[in-house]
Amino acid sequence: MGDESEALEDQIGWGQEIDEQFTHARIQALLTAYDASGRIPAFCYAKCPVCGCTFTKKVKAQRFCGRKRRGQSTCRDYYHNATHPARRERAMQVLRRQ
Ligand SMILES: [Zn+2]
Repeated sequence: MGDESEALEDQIGWGQEIDEQFTHARIQALLTAYDASGRIPAFCYAKCPVCGCTFTKKVKAQRFCGRKRRGQSTCRDYYHNATHPARRERAMQVLRRQ
């Protein structure tokens, strides 16, 4: 468990083992960070819940940095893939095929 809480301090997302990408703890961390990002007003700095980078919000509803990852997916896609069970299953199937 010690390793798990340390992992939460790290940026969430890419490069981990496939089966470790969407652990319960990671999903909880994503949800918490998403909520925190959602409370930042427009035109202020917010932290992307997925990659942890800082960006300036254009509108209050914006929660992600909007950068593409590996040229195929954005942090927003990653977040929704991780937090919706059906999409998570599909994402993992796609990852396993790579
Ligand atoms: Zn991001």
